[in-house]
Amino acid sequence: MNLEDYIRNVPDFPVEGIQFKDITTLAKVHEAFKDSCDRIIDHYRGKGITKVAAIEARGYVWGGVIAYQLGAGFILIRKPGKLPYKTLSETYELEYGTDSIEMHIDAIEEGDKVLVFDDLLATGGTAKAACNLVKKAAGEVIGIAFVIELTGSLHGRDKLKGYDILSLIEIPVEE
Ligand code: AMP
Repeated sequence: MNLEDYIRNVPDFPVEGIQFKDITTLAKVHEAFKDSCDRIIDHYRGKGITKVAAIEARGYVWGGVIAYQLGAGFILIRKPGKLPYKTLSETYELEYGTDSIEMHIDAIEEGDKVLVFDDLLATGGTAKAACNLVKKAAGEVIGIAFVIELTGSLHGRDKLKGYDILSLIEIPVEE
């Protein structure tokens, strides 16, 4: 099954110049959604994952399924001010300015083996910040999984050196 066939490219969204990779067209087709979940689950089965930490909002669509199938707990990583209890926070660079993500301080226990999941890897800033949150909580990042990896000029993988990275679809980008 060629998962790339199910990704819709939306030019100039949310701002001019961005080629937005729309994964809702993959998620809405059962066979494609199941295949994408299964490939990530199969890759990480038997690796002792105790928690799956997914980044809002599209990360949750796959993250919950993956956690359930791996017999792991599920952790929500969110934008600032969304989580109700005390949080750990991590700030990262954007092309212009900075952004932050948060996780509950008790979401991860020391020694948890964590799979970080997001729908798409672009510059790697978000995923790196998520890994830093896991490490702040004394968890161990076992891997980072994405449905889509944008390759080429963004060099997202370079930012995540040393981590096991799985991406199901590679799409080249030029800047
Ligand atoms: P980055 O931190 O640059 O790796 O950006 C990754 C995050 O931004 C992910 O949560 C993606 O959902 C989102 N994102 C970045 N670029 C795109 C794109 N071209 N299409 C869809 N989502 C994107």
